[in-house]
Amino acid sequence: MDNIPSPTASGWRVPYMDMRAAYAAQREHLLARLDACATDARLILRDEVAELEEKVAHLLGVRHAVGVANGTDALYFALRAAGVGAGDRVITVAHTFVATLSAIVRCGAEPVLVDIRRQDFNMDPALLSRAWTPGVKAVLPVHLNGRCCDMDAILDFAGQRKVAVVEDAAQAFGATWGGQCAGSFGLAGSFSFHPMKVLACLGDGGMVVTNDQETAQRFRLWRNHGLNADRSQVLCHGFNSRLDNLQAAVLLVRLEKLEETLARRRTIARQYLQKLAHLNDVELPATGPEPFAQDVVSSFVIQTGPRDRLAAFLRQQGIETFIHWSPPLHRQAALRLDSHHLPVTEAISARVLSLPLFPEMSDAQVDWVVHAMKTFFL
Ligand SMILES: *Cc1c(COP(=O)(O)O)cnc(C)c1O
Repeated sequence: MDNIPSPTASGWRVPYMDMRAAYAAQREHLLARLDACATDARLILRDEVAELEEKVAHLLGVRHAVGVANGTDALYFALRAAGVGAGDRVITVAHTFVATLSAIVRCGAEPVLVDIRRQDFNMDPALLSRAWTPGVKAVLPVHLNGRCCDMDAILDFAGQRKVAVVEDAAQAFGATWGGQCAGSFGLAGSFSFHPMKVLACLGDGGMVVTNDQETAQRFRLWRNHGLNADRSQVLCHGFNSRLDNLQAAVLLVRLEKLEETLARRRTIARQYLQKLAHLNDVELPATGPEPFAQDVVSSFVIQTGPRDRLAAFLRQQGIETFIHWSPPLHRQAALRLDSHHLPVTEAISARVLSLPLFPEMSDAQVDWVVHAMKTFFL
């Protein structure tokens, strides 16, 4: 290996992602946009939030997008809109970020966990009918790692049982299934703009989308204390869960580059796929004939037996990785979900490792990861 990348400002030769580089690449543009907001005191629910909502709705092919404080609130609002309340049940997965389950519990409802499919780590629709009980109010698929769930099968099931579908699309901004965008299939879909997501702001942010006018109106009330548009009346008990106007300004700048950043993500994922093929005991993400064409590759996840030894070796080579997630959530005692038995989730949880993948990643950084992987396995 002749072109070893130098350590970045984070100290890693290859960080898991490089937020500093993402900022540096657009610094002037971002500062100009932020300066315009601060100069005109456009700080709370102003033009930038409205402009972003309009652009996101257009891009995702939905009628309404409502900016909120974070992805967890977005999901909570989506569940509430589906009528999920005290004593209800919501079918979802354990192989997800904990916020998926917390949003359900915050409604007073109980998560009913189903297992995932080995090929895409997403909800296995074949298990839904076994999980169904009359108390189920909604099905909550999570589009993990930037790949859509099998939405045909999930919508079919929910349609037959007449329960709502609410999508956790926090990791899947721009991902598609049959040409349709994640978040647009059910009653409502939630997105996060946390710095680790594919469309990221400089802090916390989120968006909840729907095609239903009345539902959108409820989201707008809930996020802003139940106040009507001219603030003359309180129409319900609400929350303070607004998308910050400065974060919306940041997102408008980054949205312009989204196509480009997603293309780079797919290119890197395809390089990994090609260059890591045929390593003993490494399972790469399953793909169809056109790998990652419908995905936004928010994470590139491999599976391997010696996962922890590999992670330690990569760390020595200056490569940062993450484990998403171990132990699985139903094995976190404090969550009290341990009555669930989810063999695929448990097997995968012991084997997954997320490799670095970010739009600013250089070819030399990709090659360094590949070189280190080959050194470990060959
Ligand atoms: C990030 C994430 C969330 C939560 O989003 P926040 O903006 O951090 O609240 C929810 N679900 C999934 C699957 C996520 O990855």
